[in-house]
Amino acid sequence: MRIKAAVLRAVNQPFTIEELELAPPKANEVLVRTVASGICHSDYSVAHGVLRSPFPVVLGHEGAGIVEAIGPGVTHVKPGDKVIASLSPSCGKCGMCRESKEYMCSQMNKLLTDCTQLDGTTRHKTLAGEDVYALCGVGSFGEYMVMPAGSAIKVPDDTPLDVTCLIGCGVTTGTGAALNTAKVQWGESVAVIGCGGVGLSILQGARIAGASIIIAIDPMEEKRELAMRLGATHTINPFVEEPMAKVKEITGGIGVHYAFEALGKVQTMQQCWGMIRPTGKAIIVGVASLDQSVKIPAAGLLAEYEIQGSCYGSSSPKRDIPRFVDLYKRGQLKLDEMITQRIGLADINRAFEEMGRGEGARSVITYS
Ligand SMILES: [Zn+2]
Ligand SMILES: [Zn+2]
Repeated sequence: MRIKAAVLRAVNQPFTIEELELAPPKANEVLVRTVASGICHSDYSVAHGVLRSPFPVVLGHEGAGIVEAIGPGVTHVKPGDKVIASLSPSCGKCGMCRESKEYMCSQMNKLLTDCTQLDGTTRHKTLAGEDVYALCGVGSFGEYMVMPAGSAIKVPDDTPLDVTCLIGCGVTTGTGAALNTAKVQWGESVAVIGCGGVGLSILQGARIAGASIIIAIDPMEEKRELAMRLGATHTINPFVEEPMAKVKEITGGIGVHYAFEALGKVQTMQQCWGMIRPTGKAIIVGVASLDQSVKIPAAGLLAEYEIQGSCYGSSSPKRDIPRFVDLYKRGQLKLDEMITQRIGLADINRAFEEMGRGEGARSVITYS
């Protein structure tokens, strides 16, 4: 079928809106008509070479839509079902999936770095017949997506996809980091560095868990205000106040139970170490480029400081994505507030420029 998609042909180039040929789903794949896609910071990182991908590529992985067709062997969804695309293909066969750690599915790399389907081939081609890759085997910056069956997570028919698409990546990554990775307990204290879509989701997870102190750290005033509306109890502008000293001051000199990093910068990862209390935990959610290292002062080790990465919110998508949809419907997980603007596919380059300037929490592309 012919589809329109935003195609990226090289690093640091604008997207071009092109017509592509999309092949039908093969065995254990699903064709989905895209209803909406969030623009995630990882899309930005690929577009600017911080994360690698082959080219040309259709980016977009925070997608949601309606199943149009299923390949042989697919039984858990049928045409007409609403689905949210998961970052993990949840292959069900690897050692990690067998332990219900789908967020570490060993097939994920094929989607994230090779940008192919699980059989190593692409479904998109240019009209001239050149292969076009799709980020996460999804490519939600296109009118239709073919994805691995395990990536298509069924959600109830009354789910508004132009809001809940954020659950596909940012919300599951952030809220899951608080609830699954850290397992924040009621009454505990949390600091979150970076208040984009992921950081705001972390602090919402901390609020849902019942944290008593939630400190949001971001230089942009609009993001700090949004953080307060979504559950932060304190904010810090790190350009004005030294964030580690301020976190200690807010927590009576002792530091927080958990400090989360949601920017992917080595410097702020190290700052997390300076914010936690003895026995506290630094949880690294942001993704730095692979050639960088984090230096940890040995002093904290004697105080039983811990540092832990968090990938895709330590989530089991088929369990957690419907739960997050339910929390949204009950008003506990606030997603409408996180959407700065809804745009058409043609406005994608402008939205990426705004993201580069750190503006807004989330832009969502909607398809008519
Ligand atoms: Zn993402
Ligand atoms: Zn697996």
